[in-house]
Amino acid sequence: MWTCRNCNVSFDADHVEPEVDEEGFFFLCPACDYRNKLVDTGPDATGRPKLGQSDE
Ligand SMILES: [Zn+2]
Repeated sequence: MWTCRNCNVSFDADHVEPEVDEEGFFFLCPACDYRNKLVDTGPDATGRPKLGQSDE
């Protein structure tokens, strides 16, 4: 579950598409288009990069 830092709405991580640019991973809030930063927390059990929200 990811929560928009701007409008505070939560989204199932399966329903928002993570994106990456030169500043790193992020997702755009479907509700308000706010750019929410994501951090790569390392590969999961299947070796795929796992993204999470930083606690800032
Ligand atoms: Zn939002």
